[in-house]
Amino acid sequence: MIQQLGIIGCGLMGGSFALALKRAGLVKRVVGYSKSPSTTERALRLGVIDVSADSALQAVAGSDVVLLAVPVAATETTLKAIRHLVEPGLLVMDVGSTKRDVVDAARRALRERVASFVPAHPIAGKEASGIQHADAGLYAGRQVILTPLPQTPVELVQKATDLWSSIGAQVLKMTAENHDHAFAAVSHLPHLLAFAYFSGVVGQPAGRDLLSLAGPGFRDFTRIAASDPTMWRDILLANREEVLKQSQRFRQALDALEQVMLAGNGPALQELLRVASEGRRGWQMGAPRVPPVR
Ligand code: NAP
Repeated sequence: MIQQLGIIGCGLMGGSFALALKRAGLVKRVVGYSKSPSTTERALRLGVIDVSADSALQAVAGSDVVLLAVPVAATETTLKAIRHLVEPGLLVMDVGSTKRDVVDAARRALRERVASFVPAHPIAGKEASGIQHADAGLYAGRQVILTPLPQTPVELVQKATDLWSSIGAQVLKMTAENHDHAFAAVSHLPHLLAFAYFSGVVGQPAGRDLLSLAGPGFRDFTRIAASDPTMWRDILLANREEVLKQSQRFRQALDALEQVMLAGNGPALQELLRVASEGRRGWQMGAPRVPPVR
């Protein structure tokens, strides 16, 4: 049982974590802090948190677990602000979508206290952000990737694993480098492409008229283009090296398709489509094949 959970960033992800632990009866008290006092007040009104804090530090005081659920670009400043209350035994986690920059920021901000930090990325979310969308079931049945640091005590990593598991998540461990490489391919690039594709359609003359004719395929393909632009700016910049590599691969695949179309080469086009189609039909979400790091 957690005596006190400190949430820094009372939005979709932080709020959902608090609600999930409350629903499971695993937390006595949740103290929350957000940049805008109105957000913290709203979290209090919605019953997501029990106490509103005036600062990040206040949300950490007396907590045994702290979850940072702020934009990844705010990680370093936030950790610096709470550093002197980060004592051995306290578990501090984040939920950021990128991990190398978060780990680097944590090393700089927490220095020798970084052993208390267990970086986490839940593979769950919604296009709509904000506390009003927080959902106790958001993490149930979803994967959570932990990228523990070498100096983090095994017991603390286990505590993080147990917490996420207790709200129905499946925990995987890998290095921050492997994480950023993998998620550039399966999350960051698809978002970039969805934004680009949607802009390309709507930006052409009569683009809005085209949209009025779009069906379920278009809706499925562009769903993630409605995601939060500020959050995605941070993610795409933080992991740009890996995303740009994946973007090159995508360009090659698109070029190959365009070339056979230009040549009117039906069998070659069909073969390229067959490989993708069979691969997609054989794919099952949530069947991880990444070797654990420890
Ligand atoms: P969100 O709903 O917008 O919540 C972010 C919260 O952080 C807001 O309450 C915001 O407060 C607060 N905040 C921003 N800067 C802050 C600061 N410097 N100090 C304290 N609070 C601050 O966003 P979210 O979707 O929960 O995303 C949070 C994190 O989750 C991001 O790092 C993102 O990469 C990660 N993530 C998101 C998803 C997803 O699908 N949404 C999935 C996986 C991971 P105000 O309301 O006052 O601005």
